[in-house]
Amino acid sequence: MSFTLAIVGRPNVGKSTLFNRLVGRKLALVDDQPGVTRDLREGEARLGHLKFTVIDTAGLEEATDESLQGRMRRLTERAVGMADACLFMIDARAGVTATDEVFADILRKKNAHVFLAANKGEGRAADGGVIEAYSLGLGEPLRLSAEHGEGMGELAMMLAPLI
Ligand code: GDP
Ligand code: MG
Repeated sequence: MSFTLAIVGRPNVGKSTLFNRLVGRKLALVDDQPGVTRDLREGEARLGHLKFTVIDTAGLEEATDESLQGRMRRLTERAVGMADACLFMIDARAGVTATDEVFADILRKKNAHVFLAANKGEGRAADGGVIEAYSLGLGEPLRLSAEHGEGMGELAMMLAPLI
C-alpha cells in the first residue's frame, strides 16, 4: 500500500498548485478564482526519489446550503480518513486567519499526523506569516513556495522517514 498524503487548508492557499507540482500533470485545476476545483482529487506524486499518493482537497469554494465550517469539517475528515498524514497549508503572505485556526482544531481533534506548511513563502512578504504559523501549535512550519518550487527538498526530508 502506498503512503498517502492529504493536502488540506482553506481555499486559495495553494493546495492545488502543490498537488500539480507533485503529480506533474494538470490533474487539479488551479485558478485565481475560488470555486474551480471540487472535492477530492488523487494523484501519484513524485518528489525526488519518493513516490506516494497525494490527495488534493477542494470543494470548499462552492456555494451550498451547508455552512463553510460544516463542509470544511466533512471534507477534511474524509481526506484525513484516507491519508496516512496530512499537510496543513496556510498562506504565509496572509498570515494565520480565523479559518486556519478552525482547520487546526479539526486536525487536532482527529488526532491526525499533521505537517504544517506556510506556502507562498517566497520573498520577505512571507516572513511574518511564517513566524505566526508557530501559534497554531502544530510544530515548526515548513516554508514552501508551491508556485516557485521552493522548499521541495525540505518537504521530501520531512516525508522520507514515513514512506
Ligand atoms: P487552493 O485553493 O488552495 O487549491 O489554491 P490554488 O493552488 O488554486 O492557488 C491559489 C492562488 O495562489 C493561485 O493564484 C496560485 O497561482 C497562487 N499560488 C499558489 N502557490 C503560490 C506560491 O507559492 N506563491 C505565490 N505567490 N502564489 C501562489
Ligand atoms: Mg484547489
